[in-house]
Amino acid sequence: MGRKLLAEPDLAKKLAANAAQDVRPCIYCYACVSQIFINKGIKCAVNARVGHESESTIQFAPKPKHVLIVGGGPSGMEAARVAALRGHRVTLVERSDRLGGTLFFAALAYPENGRLLDYLVKQMAHPNITVRLNTSVDAALINALQPDEIMVGTGAKRAAPAIDGADQNHVWSGDELRRLMTGDRADEIAKAKLSLTERALFKAGGMLGVTDSTQAIQGLSKLWMPLGRRVVVIGGGLVGLELAEFLLDRGREVTVLEPGTHPGTELAIVRRWRVVEAVKAHGKLQLLAQVQNITRKEVIWTDKSGAVQSTPADSVVIALGAQPDASVAEAIARMTSVPVQQLGDSHELGYIEGAMHSGHRAGATV
Ligand code: SF4
Repeated sequence: MGRKLLAEPDLAKKLAANAAQDVRPCIYCYACVSQIFINKGIKCAVNARVGHESESTIQFAPKPKHVLIVGGGPSGMEAARVAALRGHRVTLVERSDRLGGTLFFAALAYPENGRLLDYLVKQMAHPNITVRLNTSVDAALINALQPDEIMVGTGAKRAAPAIDGADQNHVWSGDELRRLMTGDRADEIAKAKLSLTERALFKAGGMLGVTDSTQAIQGLSKLWMPLGRRVVVIGGGLVGLELAEFLLDRGREVTVLEPGTHPGTELAIVRRWRVVEAVKAHGKLQLLAQVQNITRKEVIWTDKSGAVQSTPADSVVIALGAQPDASVAEAIARMTSVPVQQLGDSHELGYIEGAMHSGHRAGATV
């Protein structure tokens, strides 16, 4: 119960009040316990107030504002939740047909994240919050809404590195896989990357129809996925390792090729140990692996001694190259004189913890 109480100090009170939907869940990321190993104070990835209890109580705003939040991922939803509790009126717009952003995909790779997604989505029912799905921001919308402040949490960009052979149909970027598995403009990706038979299987499996349940996609992905038996994941960071764990759980033979010396540096120490051990135990993890090119049947790479190696691959996923992306915030700032601030990965890569903390900060100070 220790970690659950860090994530939600009012756990008992909320359960007693029959408000289980408002209990912020622990996602078992181990960010709290990992602090011990680096001699740092306590923190919680999903509860930004842990370690700052006395300085960051949520105060009612002296002058309520209308806040426009662009992007329905974890940073945007957390900012909306906190701003609404403080009495602000919030309009949250999301380009796709569902809330969650990359947290939805993160929930597929690591199901514990799905509980955080469910919690945040439920908080959007606050009467001060209006959610508009399938909505992109333009000058006309800003003009119509007349916000006092704009926050942009539209996530990172994933520019895959130029690897010879990366344009083949069996090579997926993390973003393409995310879009296919989560139904975010999945038809476009299915048409571009899948054969007719695969598309028929994809539709028969019901993947295109499942748009709002990570649990359903988790289950269906055990029956069918667009990846062959032997998968090479290029990149052994957070995304590559959690994806490898997800694929191993679905019976794939997985090799992770990480160009650096340390895998999963974005993961908290204890979670990193666990996922690295799982990948090493059931698949292969190669460090200092420099990918040279991808052929139809294999990935050619050099090992730490410079020797050329090849790994057979039916499918390849490139999980490298995530970077902050200020382009949406900059475009909005050109449309209006309303103050614009960035949240989460669009400002600085911090994944779930960074998104939750920056969203909380923005909501608490607006
Ligand atoms: S840091 Fe992670 S594991 Fe620790 S209490 Fe918070 S959500 Fe749970």
